[in-house]
Amino acid sequence: MSIVETLSFEPNPKRQKIEPVSTNSLSYSTCIHSFARHGVCTACNSLVDKRHFRSFHYLSDGTQIRHDSIALAKRLTTKFSCMGEKKLHLVLDLDHTLVHTTSVPSLTEAEKYLIQETGSRHDLWLLKSNEDPVEHLIKLRPFVHDFLREAHKMFTMYVYTKGNRYYAESVLELIDPKRIYFRKRVITREESPYMKTLDLVLADERGVVIVDDTSDVWPDHKSNLVEISGYNYFRMSNSQCSRAYSEERVDESECNGELANVLRLLKEVHCGFFRVKEELESQDVRLLLQEIEFNRGVLH
Ligand SMILES: [Mg+2]
Ligand SMILES: [Zn+2]
Repeated sequence: MSIVETLSFEPNPKRQKIEPVSTNSLSYSTCIHSFARHGVCTACNSLVDKRHFRSFHYLSDGTQIRHDSIALAKRLTTKFSCMGEKKLHLVLDLDHTLVHTTSVPSLTEAEKYLIQETGSRHDLWLLKSNEDPVEHLIKLRPFVHDFLREAHKMFTMYVYTKGNRYYAESVLELIDPKRIYFRKRVITREESPYMKTLDLVLADERGVVIVDDTSDVWPDHKSNLVEISGYNYFRMSNSQCSRAYSEERVDESECNGELANVLRLLKEVHCGFFRVKEELESQDVRLLLQEIEFNRGVLH
């Protein structure tokens, strides 16, 4: 259970319930507590105005946090995570970062053999849905299982995708069926329809690394971002390449591919962050990423 979930559990409210004040037709309390669940304050059981709270659906029971308490909740989350498990936070994109997905009708003639292979391969899956008549093929990026297993030792991980929830859950069935790595920490277009933002990630920005192949969707958090080269397994309609991995029947390298490279970088960041024994509270992944990039620039 996260620190926020622990704090928000108050089975025996210590304070008196504050009488509601009328706001138009609805009645909300004037309570000032920080946490609510389904619109009810967890400390005094008053009905709260949801506009003053932000939902973090992936916390147990959909905990909501009052806007002016979010910064503190994030700070405490990162602080306790660093002190306890020595973990930072990692936000992972799905498409072209961990997987490449394409629709079956868009497969080229040279790719159609893949449909027969879906039953016998562990990196290729056919996705069918009742809501979408179009079938899709999901191809896992080489090294993805090793990447997640290793990253899990250093980071509390989130999936953050512009895809919908059904799609995200389907991919998670393939890469984390027991939900060891991500639990409920999945942010989709339902919660975040426009740009991506760390506002929805419950951790201090100084302790969050993002891995995404698209930087444009992160307008406010470029200094947290590790931009990974996009993984394109299937032929892309706008591709300039003469052949695709799928058509050539080859793939990105397992041990020298992009995910392996990014994992090395993440280890460097994690190691740099926890290098100091004291003053962990002044450590910042954004400075470490900048430093690593600078050093690499000098070396090359
Ligand atoms: Mg992407
Ligand atoms: Zn209250």
